[in-house]
Amino acid sequence: MFSKILIANRGEIALRVIRACREMGIKSVAVHSTADSDAMHVRMADESVCIGPPAGTDSYLNVPSLISACEITGAEAIHPGYGFLSENANFVQVIEDHGLKFIGPTAEHIRIMGDKITAKETMRELGVPCVPGSDGGVDSLDEAHRIASAMGYPVIIKATAGGGGRGMKVAQTAEDLEVAFSTARAEGKSVFGNAEVYLEKYLTLPRHIEIQVFGDGKGNAVHLGERDCSLQRRHQKVFEEAPSPVITQEQRQRIGKVCADAIAGINYAGAGTIEFLFENDEFYFIEMNTRLQVEHPVTEAIFGIDLVREQIRVAEGMPLSFGQEDLVINGHAIECRINAEKVPEFRPSPGTVAQYHAPGGLGVRMDSAIYDGYKIPPYYDSLIGKLIVHAADRPTALARLERALSELVIEGVETTLPLFDALLKQEAVQTGDYTIHWLEQWLETNPEI
Ligand code: ADP
Repeated sequence: MFSKILIANRGEIALRVIRACREMGIKSVAVHSTADSDAMHVRMADESVCIGPPAGTDSYLNVPSLISACEITGAEAIHPGYGFLSENANFVQVIEDHGLKFIGPTAEHIRIMGDKITAKETMRELGVPCVPGSDGGVDSLDEAHRIASAMGYPVIIKATAGGGGRGMKVAQTAEDLEVAFSTARAEGKSVFGNAEVYLEKYLTLPRHIEIQVFGDGKGNAVHLGERDCSLQRRHQKVFEEAPSPVITQEQRQRIGKVCADAIAGINYAGAGTIEFLFENDEFYFIEMNTRLQVEHPVTEAIFGIDLVREQIRVAEGMPLSFGQEDLVINGHAIECRINAEKVPEFRPSPGTVAQYHAPGGLGVRMDSAIYDGYKIPPYYDSLIGKLIVHAADRPTALARLERALSELVIEGVETTLPLFDALLKQEAVQTGDYTIHWLEQWLETNPEI
């Protein structure tokens, strides 16, 4: 059993991990940049260590500082949260070389899934259905033209090292291909250090459906159903729910089993998410995330389990605390990602939170690290909170969300809260009838929010 865990992250996800540690009787160590000295995760952890100046590359991404912080405090394991070093195979290697434990999968699994071309090949071999596209990387524009015209337009060019919605370009017709190809390559090179790209059929009316999986690293795995993350802006999730309003129990069991079997087949350890596009009742794999997702609380809500606790248990070598038959869906959950951004431009709006009041009541969870007087630093992601509601069914969850939003007060900085107030009034959101393109199209025609 670990006695002390270091959390290599900040914000709400650092709090999330600290909370799980405290409930398990494990001491927590927060790390922070000089810009985060007054951050809530620093206040809530048992100990804290300053690991560098504000820029993420000098602090939260600074591997030697993180390892030193473990050595100074005697932490035995590192939880990476999401973002930062959570999907960095070299980081995992360094942790293990120092006799510490990474709370997550092996470096090898992170490496395989972190390269989207290798991930797709691996998943195809494991029997997971994939989006039609090039077999591997595409090196020249000529080759891209050949593949795209054989497959039919529109197509999407993706950087194999891409992530967070970056490194992807759509070509609607052959005329767009040259620009899409060169910009995806350039973005891959400049943002991720790898210019390799591949081609996929661009699905025009899909939903984004992802399957939560969990493995014990010894060939046992379960799935925890799906999350529907179709409401997106710039390929980034805004509003997530579980279960999906369009997936039947039969479809859930079928794709869930394919995913659980796939990760069991590679002895995967810990939490993972297998992402699909879903169109015309078919699932198409796009990528796997080898970490906890931002939207994990909706899954926790409907299954009544603690995914972080489970991650820690698996890292300690313990068996999964639930079998597939124990995982029964109870009700419906929705999450809103609240960013410090001014809508409708979604311009980052750092500054001081003059007043904060979190909503409460039955079925309401607010995961946030802000407080009255908190100064949101300009250096990091603009996510400042996640509001999650859980209720017996989707209509009740929507009503609860509206009620919770009416109680939530964040003053002093601009936030994306007006977006959710407006979204809840839309018929498509009420009925759950939307594709991954709906939100962008709606935003274009509703510039006033
Ligand atoms: P990232 O790693 O940057 O998150 P993903 O491959 O997970 O990239 O894709 C993110 C989003 O981009 C998807 O949820 C979807 O909205 C869109 N997308 C990706 N691939 C396709 C595709 N083949 N057709 C249509 N949309 C796509």
